[in-house]
Amino acid sequence: MSNTIIIGGGIIGLSLGWQLAKKGINVEILERHIAGRSASWAAAGMLAPQAEMGFEDIELFYLCRKSLDMYPRFVEELYADSGIKVELEKTGCILPGFDRDDAERLRRLYDFREKIGMPVLWLTGSEAREIEPFLSPRCTGAIWIEDDAQINNRLLLDALKTAFQKCGGKLYEEHNVENINITNGKIEGVSVHGKDLKFENIIVAGGAWSKQIPGLPENLQPPVRPVKGQIINLRLNDSCRVTKVVRAPDVYLLPKSDGRLILGASVEEQGYDTDPTAGEIFRLLERGWEAVPSIYDLSIESIDVGLRPGSRDHMPIIGDSEIEGLYFATGHYRNGILLTPVTAFELSDWIASGKKSEALSGFGIERFYKETV
Ligand SMILES: Cc1cc2nc3c(=O)[nH]c(=O)nc-3n(C[C@H](O)[C@H](O)[C@H](O)COP(=O)(O)OP(=O)(O)OC[C@H]3O[C@@H](n4cnc5c(N)ncnc54)[C@H](O)[C@@H]3O)c2cc1C
Repeated sequence: MSNTIIIGGGIIGLSLGWQLAKKGINVEILERHIAGRSASWAAAGMLAPQAEMGFEDIELFYLCRKSLDMYPRFVEELYADSGIKVELEKTGCILPGFDRDDAERLRRLYDFREKIGMPVLWLTGSEAREIEPFLSPRCTGAIWIEDDAQINNRLLLDALKTAFQKCGGKLYEEHNVENINITNGKIEGVSVHGKDLKFENIIVAGGAWSKQIPGLPENLQPPVRPVKGQIINLRLNDSCRVTKVVRAPDVYLLPKSDGRLILGASVEEQGYDTDPTAGEIFRLLERGWEAVPSIYDLSIESIDVGLRPGSRDHMPIIGDSEIEGLYFATGHYRNGILLTPVTAFELSDWIASGKKSEALSGFGIERFYKETV
């Protein structure tokens, strides 16, 4: 089997590497810092396609839903290969409204979900507080989605790193890919630390930095930009024991099994800046407190900042390219944790068998070929 290199050791690179190694492919991951410490680490770990979907995202929604359905198999295989059990937590997700505007917006979202057959329930304010007693008494109505889930993405990253290496993959950290070498339309390999390394397949999984890697022809530079996200990790205590994911207007509150309550997340166009800022933190706390007033007394454990890989149309870029052996798995934007199983299973099958994935059709880089940058 041909030698394959993955550029980037985030959740996407690690999970693809693991699946390729399992198939007997000789695969190496080059990560310029520490694997699994970029956006994939900062993420909240929400697996909530049904709560997150807007009206315009129907194709993306079906891909997300497919990926959520693949999660049980994904974590089971991962346990077998890594020895690390990562639970899929079926917390359910509640979308509360607090005024007439919210109620109108939620009603439209509810009607749309019901129309396409999603399992959603409409709740009155008091029914919503029966499901999540820490919700503000100002809640006038809510959507309840029982089968959205969440996962401990940090544990998942540890498990993926272990499974990848146990299955024979090689991980090189502190290895910055300085150039992708392509001669006469053919993959030669990559340059690292000034040395040229030969590879037949290259998978670009560099997250928000995917467009920055030199060497790609202009039309194959994935149109991905960094979209900054800040989250606050609070520590739950008896004064506030939220158990459901609360997706309130402009903020979500996510109780984690390790005792954190995550408040997230800002969505900012600030280039590669990763400094936390008072304004966004204030806004998250204020919106979080409006939805669940008892967060007031919780202690702040830490603040994390990550850069989401946002493509031009906010859909992921997954698949092959006009250059044989050059693949992309990037641009997962706000859904990278959720889309991990479908990316890893489908793209690794495609690379190993040479047979294109139907599930990934429409998500390739060729959709941007005709656009001007
Ligand atoms: C605050 C926040 C909350 C989020 N919450 C959720 C959520 O609840 N659910 C969800 O599904 N998604 C969520 N996301 C989105 C999700 O985190 C991302 O979509 C996902 O992590 C992208 O994974 P990745 O592997 O592509 O990128 P990353 O994790 O960023 O990994 C890319 C890696 O590539 C490496 N790299 C880049 N260039 C090179 C190079 N030249 N050479 C070598 N290595 C290189 C980088 O160092 C990095 O480690 C959230 C994101 C943020 C920021």
